[in-house]
Amino acid sequence: MAENLSTKQLSVQELAELDKKYFLHPTTAPKVHAEQGPKIMFSEGKGIYVKDMDGNSYIDGVSMLWNVNLGHGQKELAEAAKEQMEKLAYSSSFIGYSNEPAVRLAEKLVSLAPGDLNSVFYTSGGSESNDTAFKLARFYWELKGQPKKRKIIALENAYHGVTIAAQTATSIPNFHTFSSSNISDVFHAKPHLTNCELGDKSDPNYEGCIRDIVEKEGADSIAAVIMEPVQGSGGVYIPPDGYLQAVRKLCDEFGILFIADEVITGFGRTGLMFGSENWDVVPDFLCFAKGVTSGYAQLGGVLIRQHIRDTIVQYEGVLSHGFTYSGHATACAVALKNIELMERDNIVVNAKNMEQVLADGFEYLKGKYDIVTKTRAIGLLSAFELYEDPTTEKPFDVSVMAAAKVGEECFSRKLLIRPIRVGEGKNIIAIAPPLVINKQEIEQLIAIIDDSISAFKKTL
Ligand code: PMP
Repeated sequence: MAENLSTKQLSVQELAELDKKYFLHPTTAPKVHAEQGPKIMFSEGKGIYVKDMDGNSYIDGVSMLWNVNLGHGQKELAEAAKEQMEKLAYSSSFIGYSNEPAVRLAEKLVSLAPGDLNSVFYTSGGSESNDTAFKLARFYWELKGQPKKRKIIALENAYHGVTIAAQTATSIPNFHTFSSSNISDVFHAKPHLTNCELGDKSDPNYEGCIRDIVEKEGADSIAAVIMEPVQGSGGVYIPPDGYLQAVRKLCDEFGILFIADEVITGFGRTGLMFGSENWDVVPDFLCFAKGVTSGYAQLGGVLIRQHIRDTIVQYEGVLSHGFTYSGHATACAVALKNIELMERDNIVVNAKNMEQVLADGFEYLKGKYDIVTKTRAIGLLSAFELYEDPTTEKPFDVSVMAAAKVGEECFSRKLLIRPIRVGEGKNIIAIAPPLVINKQEIEQLIAIIDDSISAFKKTL
């Protein structure tokens, strides 16, 4: 009989062997993993720190996947989950079934959301939220007697997830390398970063690339425009002031719905509760996930404006869409507690206040190293870029793997960051620590990046 390993005490090496053998990892090179096994095995965390199974402590400089907003090891979230699980861990929300945490959370989210985003459809994550928004946008137009309005416009360099519809909207090339699956009717417009990168307000035609597609395809065939208020995985691109407003105006002008993918920017990341609020824009759909529970439970959703809800509730049939875990009682209880703690401890204000500390740290790095440039931060969503020569924007040769190498230097100094390479030329280091971080901790983080860049430069 095979040995039952699931409860046996196992060493780190034994676990690594099992990982290699049985666990196919997301966004990981399978061949390398099958040979080398896991890069790190996490075992515990507290605040901005996580420990591996050998007891090494790391600063989590990207909140894992930009989601652990309240930081690690928050006991009150664990207690909220325990309390709810003991009472009722889960209930369906299909066929009119409901549960208390899901209802209370819906009310809370609506009270926090900008404008008349007055109802919520729950999902279990970000990709599902975006797929849901696409389906609801198309459904809305069907109900309005315009079934031909089906096309979706997304931006180049966007990340919207990996379910097939969300992946089609994602335009980062790496996410299209292994599978040719796409849905039809998705178009990509050049984003602000191509025309007026990093806030060059001299380009008066911010939304021109979207307008070109609308005019070419015809507004009567377009359901919605989707964008991240700040592009995250594509390299942390903060739009110039006026950009989101211009896109909102264009959508209104042509009768197109505006979907804000706030999977990263939601729940305090940019120094306000939602990213769209930085530009006073109310999207028709606001997709969220990640920070809603700070990663302590799987939950996502779509906030929906009143006029869309009013149309949907006229429908006499069944809204045949939903996930087993839509309105998961425990996940919703965790989200409620997460939001309560954010409010109690002024976490969003802290994210805003820490922006300048981070920005000052980046300025210091820029002054010290002739390869660092294009620093940017909004709340605790930030990045800088590495160039062989920043003045002429001469990129590092691809073979140098500049961002990855700096990432490795940081890792060896016990700091987790997110290296991003865009196309051939851009090497970006993204930093997005838990929103509970303080000034001393940011200084510690910057000091490690300082040493890491210095070590990287010596290898050149
Ligand atoms: N949208 C954005 C902006 C994201 O950053 C992500 C995840 N990184 C997603 C969607 C997908 O979310 P999930 O992985 O929960 O499906």
